[in-house]
Amino acid sequence: MTTPKNILGMDIRSWKDKYPLLSILLKKKVVFWFNPKLARYEFIKDNVSVSTTQLQDAENRWLRFAPLFQHLYPETLQFEGRIQSHLKPIPKIQTKLKKFGKKSLHGNFYAKLDNELSVAGSIKARGGIYEVICIADGLLREKWQFTDNSSCLQITESKFQAFFHQYTISVGSTGNLGLSIGLIAQKLGFQTQIYMSNDAKQWKKEKLRSNGVKIVEIDGDYTKAVKVGRETAEEDPMVFFIDDEQSYDLFYGYAVAAFELKSQMDAQNIPVDQDHPLFLYLPCGVGTSPGGITYGLKTIFGDHVHCFFVEPVACPSMLLGLLTQKHHEISIEDFGISAHTEADGLACARPSKFVGKIMESLVSGIYTVDDDDLFGLLAMLWDSEQIQIEPSSAGPLLGPLHLMAAEEYSHYIRDHNLTNAMEQSTHVLWFTGGKFLPKEIWDANYTRGTHNQLYRDLT
Ligand SMILES: *Cc1c(COP(=O)(O)O)cnc(C)c1O
Repeated sequence: MTTPKNILGMDIRSWKDKYPLLSILLKKKVVFWFNPKLARYEFIKDNVSVSTTQLQDAENRWLRFAPLFQHLYPETLQFEGRIQSHLKPIPKIQTKLKKFGKKSLHGNFYAKLDNELSVAGSIKARGGIYEVICIADGLLREKWQFTDNSSCLQITESKFQAFFHQYTISVGSTGNLGLSIGLIAQKLGFQTQIYMSNDAKQWKKEKLRSNGVKIVEIDGDYTKAVKVGRETAEEDPMVFFIDDEQSYDLFYGYAVAAFELKSQMDAQNIPVDQDHPLFLYLPCGVGTSPGGITYGLKTIFGDHVHCFFVEPVACPSMLLGLLTQKHHEISIEDFGISAHTEADGLACARPSKFVGKIMESLVSGIYTVDDDDLFGLLAMLWDSEQIQIEPSSAGPLLGPLHLMAAEEYSHYIRDHNLTNAMEQSTHVLWFTGGKFLPKEIWDANYTRGTHNQLYRDLT
């Protein structure tokens, strides 16, 4: 890859002088960045481009469609037809990490098991399915005079299947979003067109094809797959393109997970307040899923929740966007580094067009993780808790360790008056994908993990 001399009017040296952290990022070294612009939620809540009204609308729409999901996917019965996952204590991981940590690790650790989500086996089920039901809902209101009181169960009837079949739902993806949108759109009767980047894993394409979903393979990265899909859809009014780089529906679809987490914490008697802070560790690609969840949690817990994103060292696109405040305008490829990573769910060189701007005042920080360590971590997780995840999901396992070992950690704790609260803190590690991994791929990932140095150190 050739490096341009000039990026948005400045040469690389000037960029590095202006943002010293960039030099470390560009060497693909692990970093922990605390967001200097993190603000008190009450001061900024009216200045973000998203709203609690729309968040509530999203929750209501999910509720309205719950009977349909319960019918189509009986495994959602345990969640009353919602696409939800369990919150599980992970005491063995907690013990293991505490033994390993050079500094003492405080708090109680939980796993949010989106790796087991229905339909897609990844967090993309939340955003992707939500946007497909938004499209379906819009069409039903427009052409069939559906209202809030119409039963969504009737849309499994063949006349509705035939109606939806006139339309195509399309998306550009590195794999998981395509999987979630392709599977649900197909199920409802839509035609499908999934633009897959060259990072997309073969098994994800095969799973879609075997379900009758149409794949278009793009010789290029995620940004290109989205661009080709978007441009093709613009020419055809019967095509709905779900745009992962700028979709508010995706954002709200993810964001309602905050209500789910809140009710699960209530049910397990886990308090969140000044004396019991809540820490979240969320894998970040374009930023829509971790951004939506962060926004949702801030509306509930305000400053008592602290959200940290994790990105692969090869692909710190959200961090680059926030650091420089150039967001979608800047890409790590501008600096001559390739976004290639084993964490295919996070392989995007450029972040979302709007999420970074919202995160400027809401995200507590971002850290990066080495690709090989992702394998070591997923192997360790399996050994301890028998939870199966894909590499994109493993970063949260390093969150509490990295956070509490970070140079600026003590400042952060002091600034937020948490010195005496960390002992009672709660740490939620959000595992975002893995259920559908074919056995031979899971076995290979696990074996690779057992050769990793971090795995050996932790075991
Ligand atoms: C897409 C994805 C993410 C990140 O979501 P973004 O909205 O792209 O930030 C995290 N984990 C997995 C497994 C994913 O597929």
